[in-house]
Amino acid sequence: MPANQSANMKYCSLCGSPVDFRIPQDDNRARHVCTSCGEIHYQNPKMIVGAIPEWQGNILLCRRAIEPRHGLWTLPAGFMENGETTAEAAARETLEEANALVTIGELYSLYNVPHINQVHLLFRATLHNTNFSPGIESLEVRLFSEQDIPWETLAFRPVRFTLQHYFADRRKGIFQFHTGDIPPLQAAQTDSLTKRL
Ligand SMILES: [Zn+2]
Repeated sequence: MPANQSANMKYCSLCGSPVDFRIPQDDNRARHVCTSCGEIHYQNPKMIVGAIPEWQGNILLCRRAIEPRHGLWTLPAGFMENGETTAEAAARETLEEANALVTIGELYSLYNVPHINQVHLLFRATLHNTNFSPGIESLEVRLFSEQDIPWETLAFRPVRFTLQHYFADRRKGIFQFHTGDIPPLQAAQTDSLTKRL
C-alpha cells in the first residue's frame, strides 16, 4: 500500500484479534477492520505544532537530541496532544524542548506534508525572559540573529520556509500568514545536507 495511505496494523487494539485491510460498508477507502469485534481503526494525519520564539529580534532554536535529524536545528515543535489547543501545544513544546516560557501570538505558517501524513503549524511567540536551557529532546538551545541562522543545518523544510518568510516579512514590516505543501524529497536531494529537509 502507498506510504501515505496507512501505517501497518496487524491486531485490533481493542480485542487483540487480527484485522483486515478493506473498504468498510458506506466508506470509500480501505481501513483496518477488526475480524472479531468489527472496530474500524481510522488513521488520520497528525498535527505537528510549534512556536517561533522571539527575544529582542533573535529567534530561539533547538538542536535535536533525537531522531529524525539528530544534531540539526529546529524550532520547538512536536505532536499535538489530545485535550489541548494548538496554542497550548506550541507553548508546551517550547517548555519541554527549551525550558522556555512564551506568550503565543498569531498563527504564522501551515504546511501540509501529505506523504508522511502530517500538518505543521507554527505560531509567532514572545519569550518571557532568557531563562532557557535544553530539554530532554534537545542537545543545545540558543538565540540566533537573522545573519546567524544555521541555514545549512536546519532539520525540516517547514522550519526553513517559515524562517525565510519570517525574516522577509520583518524586512517588509508586516507579518502575514503563510501556507504551502511539502512534496517528497527526490533521491538526489537527500544526498545534500543542505536540501535534506
Ligand atoms: Zn477487535
